[in-house]
Amino acid sequence: MPQTHIFWFRRDLRIDDNAGLFHALKSGAAVRCVFVFDTDILAALPAADRRIAFIWDCVEALRQRLQAAGSDLYVAHGRAQDIIPNLAEQWGARRVFANRDYEPAAISRDKQVAEQLAQQSGQLELFKDQVIFETDEVLTAAGRPYTVFTPYKNAWLKRLDPFFVQAYPSQNRLKQLACWQAPPSPSLETLGFKRTNSALQAGGEAADQLFADFILRITHYKSWRDFPATKGVSYLSTHLRFGTISIRKLAQFAWQQGGEGAECWLGELIWRDFYQQLLWHFPHVVGNSFKEEYRQLQFENSQEWFAAWQEGQTGYPIVDAAMRQLKQTGYMHNRLRMITASFLVKDLLIDWRWGEAYFAETLLDFDQAANNGGWQWAASTGCDAQPYFRIFNPVTQSEKFDPEGKFIRRYVPELGSFNNKDIHAPWLAKNPPLGFKLQHDYPAPIVDHAVQRQRALQLFDKNKT
Ligand SMILES: Cc1cc2nc3c(=O)[nH]c(=O)nc-3n(C[C@H](O)[C@H](O)[C@H](O)COP(=O)(O)OP(=O)(O)OC[C@H]3O[C@@H](n4cnc5c(N)ncnc54)[C@H](O)[C@@H]3O)c2cc1C
Repeated sequence: MPQTHIFWFRRDLRIDDNAGLFHALKSGAAVRCVFVFDTDILAALPAADRRIAFIWDCVEALRQRLQAAGSDLYVAHGRAQDIIPNLAEQWGARRVFANRDYEPAAISRDKQVAEQLAQQSGQLELFKDQVIFETDEVLTAAGRPYTVFTPYKNAWLKRLDPFFVQAYPSQNRLKQLACWQAPPSPSLETLGFKRTNSALQAGGEAADQLFADFILRITHYKSWRDFPATKGVSYLSTHLRFGTISIRKLAQFAWQQGGEGAECWLGELIWRDFYQQLLWHFPHVVGNSFKEEYRQLQFENSQEWFAAWQEGQTGYPIVDAAMRQLKQTGYMHNRLRMITASFLVKDLLIDWRWGEAYFAETLLDFDQAANNGGWQWAASTGCDAQPYFRIFNPVTQSEKFDPEGKFIRRYVPELGSFNNKDIHAPWLAKNPPLGFKLQHDYPAPIVDHAVQRQRALQLFDKNKT
């Protein structure tokens, strides 16, 4: 009997160019693949969570691909800390391969799994897969982690060479997979979830199609990416989050392509690495401001305003359109994430952690590092954040980035007959559309931006060091 090793899929749901899978297959043993629907994670999620349906479909696609290669995927439901060591014992597998995850909860889970495996004379072997540079691969000359993006980006680009973006051709070694049949997978309903209305297709093929479509537009990325009504961005964040597409493939393409658009997009992929290494070096950012002086900010935290923000009923059309897009689709454009986050913290004076938690529940692409980084940037509490006195005006942002109100009209249809000028601030319209009644048809603004701006400045000024 050949020796068995395990490959454990987590946020790397693909067969192609998968570093950990490549190393497992190269080890010479027969490899059995496993995915765990982890009850420690699932327990906190609502039945209609879009992400679980997305993951379920990705796992199903993986299973079919492994079956086509003469092998299979064991899809388990339970605590990974129990399941992985149990399977290793049952199958006599000493080595368990997986790709590294930098979130504090995942690090703690992996430590427990590794400890349990060690007691069985086994080991957990982790590989870099979801970023180009991890942990302390890009440090300052003094050997410290970067906390400012631009020098990090420069050092990242300086360090880059073809090795770091080269694919791990795991797909060429599938004959090393164990020839076996796994039990049936639990259905979505058995897991306690139901199908949702996500427009995003799951799986590696869907990710490749999105990327192929984006390649046709990448040269325009820099000039189009800030306009939510324009198809300017890649829409790959969810696939990157769950690893249905390889970061190496994307970074390699952008790097080799060059030019303004591709370079700008590569910069966004570097932001992704930046926040991953930041979370790894400074795990205290989970639940705390990076900057110590802002840990005591006394937010007002109005429940009523928070609910209006969540429901897209603030009376500021661009904010409401964005929040409704999030609720209806699980996606929000980056410019709108910045506007809505700034609005929550600096117009509604609500703790950024409330917004961070709501995005974490709702975003299909939720990623702890990027979400925390984005919120701390907008709230000015982060390491390389928007200065606290630079406060987005939701009306001028709307005029600039949705000049014809196309995006607003898509998600706030009750404002559909406003002209392109008045749609950004309907309460100021001298001649609103016939029959339109402010507050009856659409809310009057729940706060006055000019007043709240001053109050936000006072709040932050009090804590200035
Ligand atoms: C408040 C706030 C919360 C955010 N929460 C998340 C989150 O939970 N998950 C998430 O993936 N991104 C998050 N972002 C970053 C960004 O908004 C999304 O990555 C982007 O909108 C996804 O769309 P896209 O794939 O079309 O991006 P593109 O513009 O095509 O960018 C390509 C990829 O680069 C990465 N990226 C782009 N911008 C950033 C950034 N600022 N920080 C880190 N990575 C970036 C993403 O992986 C993205 O898919 C957040 C930003 C803010 C301001």
